[in-house]
Amino acid sequence: MNNQKEKKKQIEISIIGSGIAGLTTAFHLGKKGYKVNLIDPTVNSEINNINPKNGTQAALGVLMGNIYKKSKGRAFLLRQKSMKLWKEWLIQIDYSDLNISLEKPLIKLANSEKEYLSMIDLSINKKEYGIKLLDKTTLEFWNSIFEKKLIGGLISHQDGRLNPINLVKSLMKSLDQIKVNKISNNVIKIRKNLNSYNKSWKIYLENNQSIDQDYIIICTALNTKKLLKPLGHEIILEPILGQVIELKLENMATNWKKWPAILNYQSKNFVHHNSNHMLIGATLESGIKPSLSHKKEMLNMNNTAPKWMTQATICHEWNGIRARPKNEASPLLKEIEPGLLINTGHYRNGILLAPSCAEWIGLKIDSQSILN
Ligand SMILES: Cc1cc2nc3c(=O)[nH]c(=O)nc-3n(C[C@H](O)[C@H](O)[C@H](O)COP(=O)(O)OP(=O)(O)OC[C@H]3O[C@@H](n4cnc5c(N)ncnc54)[C@H](O)[C@@H]3O)c2cc1C
Repeated sequence: MNNQKEKKKQIEISIIGSGIAGLTTAFHLGKKGYKVNLIDPTVNSEINNINPKNGTQAALGVLMGNIYKKSKGRAFLLRQKSMKLWKEWLIQIDYSDLNISLEKPLIKLANSEKEYLSMIDLSINKKEYGIKLLDKTTLEFWNSIFEKKLIGGLISHQDGRLNPINLVKSLMKSLDQIKVNKISNNVIKIRKNLNSYNKSWKIYLENNQSIDQDYIIICTALNTKKLLKPLGHEIILEPILGQVIELKLENMATNWKKWPAILNYQSKNFVHHNSNHMLIGATLESGIKPSLSHKKEMLNMNNTAPKWMTQATICHEWNGIRARPKNEASPLLKEIEPGLLINTGHYRNGILLAPSCAEWIGLKIDSQSILN
């Protein structure tokens, strides 16, 4: 056992990119006892969503792990695994300053008959996951909030939200405790190490330094292509913008105690906080620049926005870029050459799926380091 621990300490792994994919991979591998570097020019920068440094800091942190149509296949398994792992990880991560928990539940309202029919199916097939159709009283509450007669909805008692800013801050702190080495720099290229006796890979940093490593894990979202193309690997990722608007609700009785951690309606997520503030998040468009028309669409909800929305003032808004794989399923979890792995292409659900993806990387490296 001790022998294996010593062996792991000798294995050097660099994780490039400190969004949620890189952070959780570093946390998982560091806990396992590997010697881990986490490289990102923003790794020591302030963490906030006023000026988000990456997709992760822009996210709302919705965990829709159970409220999911499929009951088999890769995407289903990754979700299930992650929901289980987040519960375990939340005990291991250092939250001493921030007091964070998985806020529950999640409610989804139907926007069409078709959507409601699939909700009925889900409530039957996923009963064991704590998913139920909304009862009459609850639906009446939502009718009054959205000023219309809604068709119906679902409640998922086990899904909800992890505040991404607090999560990132806490993970960063935990990395210091497990002695993950943070390198604040940009990786300009990676190469196979032909000259070294034992380290397979070389990482070149912007400050003209280089480091030799046994493993490299690439978690660089859209920049992945730039790092891999010179090695002959074509990974195509396209940008998809996600937007969040924070509204201050004016002159409203917003003592909405029944508001769940997440309300999902018309493909938008609503987070009610600080008694009269509402965060509204959506994935609306391809590209990297938000357009005014999409913002308007988000706020007027196809001309069905209730008064509390139309009369509210925008107090803050931000956006972030998600990297969507083209022609491949998201996320991209692969060993593309011996010792070179990728954990990226988290277009949606990057926060949700982070632990199961980190675990996949850990299992891959464990299986090789034990064999060697
Ligand atoms: C508005 C919005 C709302 C969202 N809401 C949710 C949600 O509710 N739930 C959910 O699960 N997901 C949500 N997402 C999606 C989620 O944020 C992403 O899936 C996730 O953050 C992707 O994480 P990542 O680590 O892959 O990429 P990122 O967080 O973008 O991190 C990539 C990192 O790589 C670094 N990097 C790039 N190139 C280099 C290089 N050459 N050298 C060193 N470092 C480099 C960058 O600096 C960056 O920090 C949302 C996204 C947005 C934008």
